[in-house]
Amino acid sequence: MIMTAETEPGLSSQPANMNQTTNADNLMHGKALLQNYARYEVEFVKGEGAYLYDTNDKKYYDFLSGIAVTGFGHNHPVIKAAVEEQLNKLWHVSNLFESTPQEELAKKLVRSSGLDSVFFCNSGTEANEAAIKFARKWGKERTQIITASGGFHGRTMGSLSATGQPKLWEGFQPMTPGFIHVPFGDIEAVKAAYDQNVAAIMVEPVQGESGIVVPPADYLNSLREFCDEHNILLIFDEVQSGMGRTGKFFAHQWDGVKADIITLAKGIANGIPLGATICRYDIAEVMVPGTHGSTFGGNPLAIAAGNAVADLLNENMLSEIYAIGNKLMNAIVSLNTDKIKEVRGKGLMIGIEFKEGISAKKVASKLLAENVIVGTSGDTVLRLLPPFIITEKEILNFVLALVNVLSRI
Ligand SMILES: *Cc1c(COP(=O)(O)O)cnc(C)c1O
Repeated sequence: MIMTAETEPGLSSQPANMNQTTNADNLMHGKALLQNYARYEVEFVKGEGAYLYDTNDKKYYDFLSGIAVTGFGHNHPVIKAAVEEQLNKLWHVSNLFESTPQEELAKKLVRSSGLDSVFFCNSGTEANEAAIKFARKWGKERTQIITASGGFHGRTMGSLSATGQPKLWEGFQPMTPGFIHVPFGDIEAVKAAYDQNVAAIMVEPVQGESGIVVPPADYLNSLREFCDEHNILLIFDEVQSGMGRTGKFFAHQWDGVKADIITLAKGIANGIPLGATICRYDIAEVMVPGTHGSTFGGNPLAIAAGNAVADLLNENMLSEIYAIGNKLMNAIVSLNTDKIKEVRGKGLMIGIEFKEGISAKKVASKLLAENVIVGTSGDTVLRLLPPFIITEKEILNFVLALVNVLSRI
């Protein structure tokens, strides 16, 4: 419980302006942190595989993995060993010097994507900022980028402007110009929005933050065709859907399409901050020394984790992710409850949309009380992003907890 001046008699301070909390108040009430997150009142202090442990050593099933970050679970022995080894050698060196581990991870990403060149940064929003800069530099006088409504690309000014959710812009205007938002999944809307000032189209292959929205089957292919026809770039934001989450290295590979730029972060280093922007050679060519950079980008510890993750994510692992994802999805579908409207997604990126009137946040809170951690998006979608290492036992226990919670809602 958070103590307030009212619950702590005699401790009320005397701020000059009674409506303003002071520094002393914040220290006393444990609110030194900016209150920009609606945090659950649970604190985790330890993680092991698919489980998290709170301050009372209570064990939780982690069906969120950070938010699609810790794909290989917590405290993974191989990733841990790689980071520990690096920790004992070198923590940081500037990007003014050669880095063999960065080059190695870049090669793995180049091989997996079929693209040519990689820039490392520290987060998803930065990976997208880089993609936006690459597209503009490549596009020369063409400066516009078409993005999708409901899309999410990050919180910094460029990627926030690309983000097709006006509610997230409130209070932060003016937005960066150069983004045209069109309905997701609608190729005709892209065609209608296009003119000769457009340099690129940027979308998530599966929209994550807006509720695990899978576009129509031919959408990504139609985008590819359209981009080829007009010689513009196709950028896939794979920050959430990439790194094996859907059972392919990149979600867009399900459709057999190729991107010109791919952005990655979340799952790439299993929890150590790392982002990447992968691009075609002729885009890489315009990004000469001095055009872009990052002090921390490609940090040795993060790259060590990234190299371990990329090695673990072999074809066998990808098929396992897809198979276990299907088992989880089928288990939820077969519940046959009148409270669920739709179950959708791919691999281990799953959304459960409830019928109107059932609050996903309420379900998530009740699941947390049953020791299960899940995410939500919007009012009615429960978001499941479990680690790749879950087993049928964890699926069964999740489903039991969900049935239990739904019966009480
Ligand atoms: C989370 C997310 C981002 C932003 O990543 P950060 O690391 O939080 O900056 C961008 N795009 C997509 C698709 C995401 O899911």
